[in-house]
Amino acid sequence: MMERPKFVFLFIGDGMGLGQISMAEAYISSLKGEISNTSLSFTQFPVFGLSTTYSANSYITCSSAAGTALSTGYKTNNGMLGVDPQNNKLQSITYKLKENGIPVGIVSSVTIDHATPAAFYANSLSRSSYYDIAIQIPESGFDFFGGGGFAQPTGEKKDKKDIYKVLEEGGYTVARGIQDYISKKGAKKIALFQESGKEADLPYAIDRTPSDLTLKQVVAAAIDHLYGPKGFFIMAEGGKIDWAGHGNDAKTNILEVLDFADAVDVAVGFAKRYPNETLIIVTADHETGGMTLGREKGYELKLKELDSQNRSVATDKESVPAVAELNKKANVGWTTTSHTGTAVPVFATGPGSRFFMGRMDNTDIPKRILRIMGFDNQSEQRIQP
Ligand SMILES: [Zn+2]
Repeated sequence: MMERPKFVFLFIGDGMGLGQISMAEAYISSLKGEISNTSLSFTQFPVFGLSTTYSANSYITCSSAAGTALSTGYKTNNGMLGVDPQNNKLQSITYKLKENGIPVGIVSSVTIDHATPAAFYANSLSRSSYYDIAIQIPESGFDFFGGGGFAQPTGEKKDKKDIYKVLEEGGYTVARGIQDYISKKGAKKIALFQESGKEADLPYAIDRTPSDLTLKQVVAAAIDHLYGPKGFFIMAEGGKIDWAGHGNDAKTNILEVLDFADAVDVAVGFAKRYPNETLIIVTADHETGGMTLGREKGYELKLKELDSQNRSVATDKESVPAVAELNKKANVGWTTTSHTGTAVPVFATGPGSRFFMGRMDNTDIPKRILRIMGFDNQSEQRIQP
């Protein structure tokens, strides 16, 4: 059987460990009044693996070191992006794919200059050099960028050229919102963001209003834009699972995981049309919060306690103590407001998916993707799978 996929999706749930996944599954069951774990689309994928996440200098990785591992196959220190600990540039596999004519799309629900998406197109000594990272988008020449906008569109001191102008001069058609994207269809290279005035990260699912852009819509637009005879590679990140983890905000976290699963569903729908050519990998860069089902003493998870919450703590800062109390009553456990060093799951389906079975390291994932797509790290030549 031919195992070379043409269409490859790498979905990264930032901060999405097994606790977050099990919690989201339990939440769906609880809405039905059942005690069970209702599987999400991707937790039903036939292949399951476990990936270690440590960085070059810590058992507990940050998103830029993990993103670098997932994009280049090399470990680096926390805080560094697309460079090794000695600050030598590393190459993301997206460049290898692009060199070989395969269209590339980078999608995230957080700003596109944030650590995880940035690891797939940029090199920087510091993940916080947002503007220096952003201006590497036109240099990449990748075909589609979409989701959140920019953390610092005119630089840290607001003295740099507007990044949207830089993109346009670099050959990108900037679309704001889905209707604008549709009207600009056929453009060579697309950068799709929220409507004007809302260009930072996409709102949390719990806070969303009907006019807000969603991760699912951006993934669908990426497929629509990139689809063609050469295939494509799409990296799509659910970036705010992590943020809700940092906030120890269970309800927001659960709804972000479900929103991320909805975005994966778009790829699952695509794979139904091209089953022999589509590989979908879903993983995480690390776990955030030490989130778990159960707290202190006892055997009951009481997710009904979360019903009354309808905004994230990030948008309603005054609700922080009340939400902490709800999490306690629900028996949702948290051990930290930072990341943890536990291994994360890898789910895969489609041609080549069997290479993601069992135990692996996060650095193995991009190497395996390149190999399965027919390119190894060293050679320009297509290799046999
Ligand atoms: Zn984080």
